[in-house]
This record gives sequence, structure tokens and C-alpha cells, in this order.
Amino acid sequence: MKKDITQLTKEEIKNFCLDNGIKSYVSSQVFSWLWNKSCSSFSDMSNVSLKDRSIFDKEFFINDLIVEEEEESTDGTIKTKFKLFDNNCIEGVLIPKNKRMTACISSQVGCSLSCSFCATGTLGLTRNLTASEIYKQVVYISKKCLEKYDEPLTNIVFMGMGEPLLNYKNVLRSIHFITTDEGLGMSYKRITLSTSGISKMIRKLADDNVKVNLALSLHAANENLRKKIMPIGKSNSLEEIRDSLKYYFSKTKKKVTYEYILLRDVNDSIEDAQELFLYTKHLNSKVNIIEYNQVEELNFKKSSYEKTEKFINYLSKKGVNVSLRRSRGKDINAACGQLANKN
Ligand code: SF4
Repeated sequence: MKKDITQLTKEEIKNFCLDNGIKSYVSSQVFSWLWNKSCSSFSDMSNVSLKDRSIFDKEFFINDLIVEEEEESTDGTIKTKFKLFDNNCIEGVLIPKNKRMTACISSQVGCSLSCSFCATGTLGLTRNLTASEIYKQVVYISKKCLEKYDEPLTNIVFMGMGEPLLNYKNVLRSIHFITTDEGLGMSYKRITLSTSGISKMIRKLADDNVKVNLALSLHAANENLRKKIMPIGKSNSLEEIRDSLKYYFSKTKKKVTYEYILLRDVNDSIEDAQELFLYTKHLNSKVNIIEYNQVEELNFKKSSYEKTEKFINYLSKKGVNVSLRRSRGKDINAACGQLANKN
């Protein structure tokens, strides 16, 4: 069976060349075709000899994404369903807002964490994505953005399907290619990694000096409630998570963002806002209140307009840097928490 060449390091490709009588400089050419040019076939590698291409072709395949389906929302959001080499599917979303063009990408096929309000959580986890499968979502969405809006991609958020910190190695490798000249050469500052709060991995991110923006999907600042709606809270207490965020901040000096989806009569009372204020006040942080997007098979509802106003006003008066993030792409199930390979 052929192996996926995108899983190999430059060094490993070089060793393959040496073992197969191919000049070592060819490894750099092939590597550049794979990442810098996102090439999907050995036959396109025009500066590599036909003989060398066929040696590679016999041994390897190039893991690529196939566009299975694409939908456009009335607000311009575009959701793309990608088919992977093993027929699994994932989704990526382009969210245009004025000059800000954001790619929301997936890191896993499904998710193991079963947050009770999230469509992806109902799927369970099938597998981790490879670095190239993550990277190629960005490459595709970036091209789409230029084609459709004549604007470059400005931001990348790991907020699609999956928990990125549970696919740490591949997520970091994809970030390497997104940010270096071996790939897209974008700035770290443009990348936000969103986690449900795995404290051990947040510390690792800090120790590895990965200076991406970090967002915590908090959604409840009350221990019992959080455990109920986010089972990951059972093994990562709010205190442990806060300590790991402080550690992340002390190492990277990067402001942390708290994401908080307002669920009607679940976490949208003034008492909930008070707990949120007390929890977040210790760090230089920002709070994003997110409108909930109804997921058919789940029993949660969006908070009322009045309660949302009150909640935000309370936090504002307390001096919290708070903003409301309105839903985008909800008519095509592309909004936050709605990605579930529908249709
Ligand atoms: S909210 Fe994120 S971590 Fe929770 S189930 Fe959905 S994809 Fe997984």
C-alpha cells in the first residue's frame, strides 16, 4: 500500500532519495512542491525528472482534499465539505466580514468531547486529521477568498470540528507550514486556537512557545454547570484551567479570549454573569459572548434579546472587555457549533 508522503519530514524524504538513487537536492524540490505549492500530483512536479517522479509515485500518494459540497450563506459565509482520502468528511468555513476574512478550520474528524450543545459533539471521534489535511483547508479557503472576494485571507481560527489540543502534534505541524516560508508564510498573530480547556496541553503550548492567540471555550464559570454541559470539565477543573491560562500568559504575554455561548435559561442569568466576571477578572483577557445557533437534534435555545443585553451590560459595567459575536452562516449550518457533515 502506498504511503502518504505529506507525513514525511524533509529529512525523511531526503533519506528516501538517497536510498533510491535520487540526487539529494530533489528532496527539497519535492518538499517545496508538496507544501509551498500545495501540489496534488507527482506528475505536476515539472522540475523533477520523469524517472524520479515515477519512483516517488510507486511508493507514495499525496494526501489531498476533494471538495464534496459547497454552500453559500446569505451573509456571504461559505461552507465547504471536504472528502478525505479514506472517504471521511470534514468541514471548513470562510467567514467574510468587511476586510476581515476568516477561515474556520477543523482539526479532527468529529470530536470525542461531546459538549451537549454542539453538533460536532454528537458525531464522536473518527480520527485525527494529518497536518496536511489541516493545512490544505487553509490553502483552499485562502484561494476561495481571493477568487470570490478579491481579498487575502486575514485570520485562521481552529474552531471547526474537533479539539485541536487533542491532535497536538499535527496541529502544530500545520501551524508550522501556515506560518513559515516553507508554506504560506502567514503571521502567528493571525491564528487563534480554541480549546475546550485541557490544562495540561495549554501548559505544553506555553512551554513549546507557540505564540498563537488562545481562546478558551468556557461557556460556564460554575463548576457543576460546566461539567454538565461540557464533560471535559470533569477532568479539568475551572481552577486548573485558570492556572494553566495564567501560565500561558506569563510565558507568551498573549491575551486570552474567553468564548461564552449564551444558552437560554442555562447560563444566561445575572448570577452566571457574576460568576463569569469573577472567573475572568484575574487575567488580561477578553470575553466573546456568542449567540447560540440552534442545532435541530439538541434541546438548547438561543438566549433572549433582553437577557443577552442585560448579561453584556453587567459585564461591561464591571469593566470587562466584552463583545457580542453574532452568528454567521447559520442558514447553511456553518455557524459555531453547527458543523456536523449534514446533507
Ligand atoms: S464544542 Fe468543540 S470540543 Fe465541544 S464537542 Fe464541539 S467540537 Fe468538540
